Amino acid sequence: MQIRYRITLTFTIIVTIILLLVCTAIYWFSNQERNSIFKNRLYRRAESLIELQQLQTFDTSELRKINSTAPSSLFERSISIYDNLGYEILADNGDDAPPININKQFLLDLAPDNPFFFNIDKRDAVALRYRSGGKDYFVVVAAYDYERVEWLKKLLVVLAVCFFAGVSIVIITGYFFSLSIVVSIDEIIRKINHISSEEFSLRLNIGKGKDELEKLAITINNLLDRLKYSFDTQRRFIDNASHEMQTPLTVIHSQLDVSLQKQRNPDEYRQVMMSVRDDVKKLALLVRSLLEIAKASGSVKGIELAPVRIDELLLRLPSEIKKITPFYDVKLQFEEFPENEDSFLLYGNEHLLFSAVKNIVHNACKFSEDRTARVNLGFEDSNIRIAITDHGPGIEQGELENIFQPFYRSDKYNKIIPGVGLGLALVHYIIALHNGRIEVVSEIGKGSTFTIILPIHV
Ligand code: ADP
Repeated sequence: MQIRYRITLTFTIIVTIILLLVCTAIYWFSNQERNSIFKNRLYRRAESLIELQQLQTFDTSELRKINSTAPSSLFERSISIYDNLGYEILADNGDDAPPININKQFLLDLAPDNPFFFNIDKRDAVALRYRSGGKDYFVVVAAYDYERVEWLKKLLVVLAVCFFAGVSIVIITGYFFSLSIVVSIDEIIRKINHISSEEFSLRLNIGKGKDELEKLAITINNLLDRLKYSFDTQRRFIDNASHEMQTPLTVIHSQLDVSLQKQRNPDEYRQVMMSVRDDVKKLALLVRSLLEIAKASGSVKGIELAPVRIDELLLRLPSEIKKITPFYDVKLQFEEFPENEDSFLLYGNEHLLFSAVKNIVHNACKFSEDRTARVNLGFEDSNIRIAITDHGPGIEQGELENIFQPFYRSDKYNKIIPGVGLGLALVHYIIALHNGRIEVVSEIGKGSTFTIILPIHV
């Protein structure tokens, strides 16, 4: 069933039940109220009759006179008086009312001065035992509450009209109300159906952003923003990666073409081969970096995670860095070691973490004249802090936000310092994967400090 019908139906059922309960309550309380008023009138009539009889004795014709002077609202009224044995001694039935026909025993069981109300021939009646001249008597007064019956009939019609009008209004308003909700959902579905990877700029109307649907629209818009960002980043990444691969391949291709055009001497061949080797090295570095990024940019699923001792990981740095270039130097400095051995432990992938730290250390050596990286290991309450400092040229403030972007390289070093611009992007992915963060402080002419903050393994 469609939501709009479901909402209308639920709305209608709930309101119908409420209306039904309210109408029934109104009818029941009105009936009770009118009934008690009528009973009271019958009782007062019986009492005044008793008072009159105690003042004077009267016969059937006088009783008729009394009965006929009753208010016209009492229909089919009857009065009967019985002696102490329950035998009728006087009776009058006005307006062709049927005679009161009751059991003697019923009368004899009555308690003195305690009115007993009952129904007889669809009429209301009251029976009273009283004493007069030292003897017990019974009086029964009955009448038909025509006004109450008529009044209840009218009330029933009014309540029925109100009930059906109420239910109809609820069905109509419920339908339009549900329609107004569903229209917004339909609008969201329609717009989302139009969104594709090509048409990612389309956004949902968020209105005032206050109700749930508007908040849903905001959430979807935020999701689309994130998806668009990630699509754009991926597209840019693929463009850049293809471009970076294309350039050395084209250079290799043209160098080989030129050298094959004629016979060359061994020196010339050697030169070409050395140049091709440099380009192949660059390509290999690029492919390696791309593979590492592919590994690190996903989720932690599929990556082997284990406790990693950070001090041991850092101790491997000097020898590994020297393997790249023997002139590179790493100076390690560990702050006061915590007593608890667990404070050295990180939970993560050792290979990726080492790769992240090594990339920053490599940059520090690569970009500074003294070719030296200073690595400081510090411990905070629940974090491990690795600060890598160099005395290099520093990074411009405007560049700081770009250096973690894939393929970003400063124009200043593009030609003179080798690299593919993927090192820091890889570092960024790896640190994010390990729930850490990275901070950079740099001063032109003085150097830079890259600080990696990682949560310890608890
Ligand atoms: P690559 O080193 O291959 O150029 P990275 O992603 O490692 O790529 O670095 C991106 C850019 O950030 C570098 O080209 C350089 O401009 C800047 N950079 C990174 N580390 C340093 C550093 N220690 N000192 C100065 N500039 C740096």
